[in-house]
Amino acid sequence: TEESDPAPIKCADLIVDGWFHERGTLWPGQAFSLKVEEILYNQRSEYQDILVFKSESFGNVLVLDGIIQVTERDEFAYQEMIAHLPLYAHADPKKVLVIGGGDGGVLREVARHPGVEEISICEIDKDVIEVSKKYLPGLAKGYDDPRVTVHIRDGSKFMEENQESFDVIITDSSDPIGPNSVLFETPFYSSMYSSLRKGGIVCTQGECVWLLLDVIKPLVNSIKEKYSSVEFAYTCIPSYPSGQIGLILATKDRGSCKTAARKPDEETQKALQYYSADMHSASFVLPAFAQRAIFE
Ligand code: SAM
Repeated sequence: TEESDPAPIKCADLIVDGWFHERGTLWPGQAFSLKVEEILYNQRSEYQDILVFKSESFGNVLVLDGIIQVTERDEFAYQEMIAHLPLYAHADPKKVLVIGGGDGGVLREVARHPGVEEISICEIDKDVIEVSKKYLPGLAKGYDDPRVTVHIRDGSKFMEENQESFDVIITDSSDPIGPNSVLFETPFYSSMYSSLRKGGIVCTQGECVWLLLDVIKPLVNSIKEKYSSVEFAYTCIPSYPSGQIGLILATKDRGSCKTAARKPDEETQKALQYYSADMHSASFVLPAFAQRAIFE
């Protein structure tokens, strides 16, 4: 955490009477609560306070600095969409970079694409990876794919050394506080642009239209100046604040991502729980208030 932070968050303090309460400063006046069956892990890493607990109704839950990152019950709604929107929008992605995403769930989804030759992941906190391998094996199995290379690094620094290298870059970040805030700033989007190959696509966690339009709108406006297209999609997921999370898709030297260029084969589609070609197009249709606020 940054020096200016008042006091480091202790995840354990958020468990009261057997319930974990997610009370983020980015969503004042509301909280999401889950009943805790057992605390499986709670340690402070070099970067953040890591908690994993077994919940009564959402399976194992990963929490970083007090904020829910994934639950076993609904994680597919996020992992499938952040990975397959850019990958199926691209006709032939070969080199993919995942920034953040230490739990491995995005890797698991990228690995469903047989045409992808290299998958790099750049996660700053090695403890998130180790903890996920132990307590979230259904996500961390993404690391088992032989095409995956792990870099324990800051994503921005890694991209500086890898210019014009990737067909798709996926940024699976937490919210814009603590070590993640840099991932929501214009310079980070400029670095991603430089690391993309011609025809490339970035897809990033884009926050929720019910809560953070004042972060989303200026970010979208600023990156429009550089990228050929900037679009906003969303997925519905009960354990994220307000039950919805946005995804920003931006392209280099190519057009819209709203229509899939390829479709999952029959076997892959059967394994998917949220993504489909129809959901691909539908996810870009925003409620009128959000469309107006972000794009008009
Ligand atoms: N999908 C979840 C969500 O949206 O809440 C989980 C995101 S979590 C896995 C994000 C990861 O990004 C964390 O493990 C964190 O350590 C990592 N991270 C934060 N800043 C980073 C940076 N500058 N470079 C690379 N990884 C970073």
